[in-house]
Amino acid sequence: MVVTFLGTSHGITEKNTFCSSAVVSVGGAHYIVDVGAPIDTLLQNYDIPFSGLRGIFITHPHQDHYVGLAPFTFTMEDFGRFENVSVPVLAPAGIDFSALNVFLFGDPRGHERYRTENPPPYRVRFSVYPDAPAEGATVFDDGILRVTAYPVKHCPHSHAFLLEAEGKRIVFTGDLSRDLSDYPRVATETPVDLVVTEAAHGRLSEPGTVAILAKTRAPRLVISHRHPARNPLSEVEALAAKLAPAIEVIAAHDGMVLNV
Ligand SMILES: [Zn+2]
Repeated sequence: MVVTFLGTSHGITEKNTFCSSAVVSVGGAHYIVDVGAPIDTLLQNYDIPFSGLRGIFITHPHQDHYVGLAPFTFTMEDFGRFENVSVPVLAPAGIDFSALNVFLFGDPRGHERYRTENPPPYRVRFSVYPDAPAEGATVFDDGILRVTAYPVKHCPHSHAFLLEAEGKRIVFTGDLSRDLSDYPRVATETPVDLVVTEAAHGRLSEPGTVAILAKTRAPRLVISHRHPARNPLSEVEALAAKLAPAIEVIAAHDGMVLNV
């Protein structure tokens, strides 16, 4: 698997960096975790073809994790150049996609009307995955990639994701509670190849946070969705010093590519 970080900041956007969005590529199949960034432009910047998109997964119903779906949906549905593309968006409860349709297409049924007036194949297909039980629930499996969701406590309907493909395992924690008390057990109780977590809410140098992150059973821990004031790079470096050499701590930046 190859992970391309399209956006890594906290909030909607900052100078020279976009909010969280990552592409996981398995060969020519591409999957996106969270859409806080304008992926319609960024996918093109990184030469990731829309026709290779197989799934988009949203961790929780906060705008900074799905706002980029608006320009993406408009681009996909309103121009003829993506007629051979169809991608499912799996979102948790709590996001009103009918409002997106009103905004983009001027009709609560806008998406459907567009589909009625424009024959298949359709392009962006929204569906809601149910709240996962503590032991996790598979929300997607296309034979290439399997996604298992685990509940976390950041906000109602928040989830962490385990992505499995090619015998490798990546955990995206999504946003967590400030004290990381809901850091997903799948990242600490089973070996994984990479964990991507957030640094938007608590400080990375808090002793309790360090103790929890030290339990990560992965050789690499990526810090993304970083609040620049709460967690300047010095906080990441302090955490890295504490977790070395067992765990390599990596501060994500836009455009970073990791092979897993
Ligand atoms: Zn967030």
